[in-house]
Amino acid sequence: MQTTQSRDIEYMQLALEEARAAAAADEVPIGAVVVRDGHVIAAARNTREGSRNPAGHAEFTALLEAAAHEDAWRLSGCTVYVTLEPCIMCAGLMQQARIERCVYGASDPKAGALGSLYQINADERLNHTFEVESGVLEDECAQLLKDFFAAKRAQNKAKKKEGLS
Ligand SMILES: [Zn+2]
Repeated sequence: MQTTQSRDIEYMQLALEEARAAAAADEVPIGAVVVRDGHVIAAARNTREGSRNPAGHAEFTALLEAAAHEDAWRLSGCTVYVTLEPCIMCAGLMQQARIERCVYGASDPKAGALGSLYQINADERLNHTFEVESGVLEDECAQLLKDFFAAKRAQNKAKKKEGLS
């Protein structure tokens, strides 16, 4: 039998695939999948640039997809896997959707709402709390972001140089 830990790694690898696809489309590489009863019911990547959508975060889109799949706004029993710690908006949507659990890879000290800046999942004033597991494939998730931004900086530098010549 598979342990929760090995399942978490397996699903995070799927989220990472989504994140890589985002990078290939010149989007900040963040990916997410939603799992229920051992089935992936939604998968999405960050599309904020291409879709010109401030809500185009991977886990936000994945939650909407999951709700469409379930034909219900309530996503009880669902686990969301996402490569980067969710922001306030996405953590809020998870709370609204009554998810059971969120597993994320890299922490986001500047915007994270599931442990870093806020603990939306554990705020007893809200009518629903959910479990959070952090640090699953953390290095891979963080490295993908680091590589993306390093490549961006190199591109910008090259562009500046071109402008000068
Ligand atoms: Zn978000």
